[in-house]
Amino acid sequence: MTPDTRADILAALVGALGPDVVTAPAQIEPRYLGDWVMALTTGRPSALVRPRTTDEVSTTLRLCHARGVPIVPQGGRTGLVGGATPIDGCVVLSLERLAGIEEVDPAGSTMTVRAGTPLQAVQEAAQKADLFFPLDLGARGSCQIGGTVATNAGGNRVIRYGMTRDLVLGLEVVLADGTIVRSMNTLIKNNAGLDVRQVFVGSEGTLGVVTRIVLRLYPAPRSTCTAFVACPDYERVVALLRHAQAGLGGTLSAFEMMWPDFYTLMTTHVPGMPRPLPLGSAAYVLIEALGSEPEPDLARFERMLEAAAGAELLTDAVIAQSPAEARGFWQVRDGSGDFPRIGWPGKSFDIGIPTPRIGAFVDACRAALVRRWPTAETAFFGHIGDSNLHLHAKVTEGEQPQADIEAVVYDEVRAWHGTISAEHGIGVVKRPYLAHSRSPEEIAVMRAIKQALDPTGILNPGKILD
Ligand SMILES: Cc1cc2nc3c(=O)[nH]c(=O)nc-3n(C[C@H](O)[C@H](O)[C@H](O)COP(=O)(O)OP(=O)(O)OC[C@H]3O[C@@H](n4cnc5c(N)ncnc54)[C@H](O)[C@@H]3O)c2cc1C
Repeated sequence: MTPDTRADILAALVGALGPDVVTAPAQIEPRYLGDWVMALTTGRPSALVRPRTTDEVSTTLRLCHARGVPIVPQGGRTGLVGGATPIDGCVVLSLERLAGIEEVDPAGSTMTVRAGTPLQAVQEAAQKADLFFPLDLGARGSCQIGGTVATNAGGNRVIRYGMTRDLVLGLEVVLADGTIVRSMNTLIKNNAGLDVRQVFVGSEGTLGVVTRIVLRLYPAPRSTCTAFVACPDYERVVALLRHAQAGLGGTLSAFEMMWPDFYTLMTTHVPGMPRPLPLGSAAYVLIEALGSEPEPDLARFERMLEAAAGAELLTDAVIAQSPAEARGFWQVRDGSGDFPRIGWPGKSFDIGIPTPRIGAFVDACRAALVRRWPTAETAFFGHIGDSNLHLHAKVTEGEQPQADIEAVVYDEVRAWHGTISAEHGIGVVKRPYLAHSRSPEEIAVMRAIKQALDPTGILNPGKILD
């Protein structure tokens, strides 16, 4: 981009929005220059814009559109595929000031919220109204609801409540040319033509900027039952999943499996990590049920586990006797954030394989890594009920040959007809592998939608598609 274009867009933005909203390149703080996994290493943005209103977002896009200047939308910058990383010459559009809860409607069980609101604030506002917003993930304090919509985030309770797209009833979005599309639907059922909102959910800032959202809320749970169990093999894990779904009357809210490589690493090497069950089992599962009546719910939970033991689906089980003990179980499952502390790469793979085949896939994937690097070590865990698997791989000491590891893992995923992204999106990091999981025809449809909504390609260029 020429110096003239940079100066021109900066002057136009400052003129329209003022210096309080627009920051010049030299004053942009480093945190806006990257996200959780990537940073801009060469070049610099033309400006940082932090609008407080949808109209200011619209003005920003209109001015950039007229000049062909790229825009990179940013939420909490916790995305794991580099989607919010700026590119040289772009305008960084941070949604952090467009925050706040506009309305909680207990009768309709909906919440209207601005895109820059942190996920945790959404959860707390629902709780205050004695309701429940079920989306939950480790980045809850930093990620924004708009970012979770833009990535269609998953998290721990998908098995019961679905992904973010299942929790979005309506949204307001600003198109590349500045047009504001208000699709603030509050209806559960609305089949009046194509469902416009869903085009933008999971579009990673490439089709429009999400500014306001209508969320679906649920009744607040009154009871939580949590167990940590050991199983003799993967087939029995799948049987236990179906048994728990059938036996818990729709209250199953998490079914998180850990392979022994993951469980051993976490409970042996991470200081202070609890070990709910002894080492030596073929599989470990954290099971959670959210219900409405504490005593009958616990009795049913115990009956379900006893029957599973009787059918030899599990070999050992412990039920949390307190919220603190339940948190300890979750600490093991969420220990993936502790990998850097024990000298492992922090980068985890987020892939999807049909649930019944995950056990065999894990064996094949591990074998493929060891064939290439005989000293390779792996740690597998995942949201098995959602056919979602995570993997950390350490194939050598020191710096990991990340691109080579990706090639091995994603080639296996393609061979098993899985997906290279179950919940994190594509961004920049997974872009080279999109065709491993999507057909040429599917990619052509994506390009056609992009062309229709952003013909000059200014919205988050280089993300998802090249
Ligand atoms: C510790 C940790 C745990 C995580 N756990 C999970 C998990 O369990 N499940 C899961 O699915 N993900 C998980 N994630 C990744 C997850 O994608 C993000 O945390 C979250 O969804 C991104 O929100 P954000 O506000 O940080 O978005 P950012 O990282 O800022 O942006 C992500 C993408 O969305 C775009 N974007 C952001 N806001 C908007 C907007 N308003 N309009 C249009 N585009 C926008 C950006 O351009 C970018 O492409 C985790 C991340 C971390 C760091």
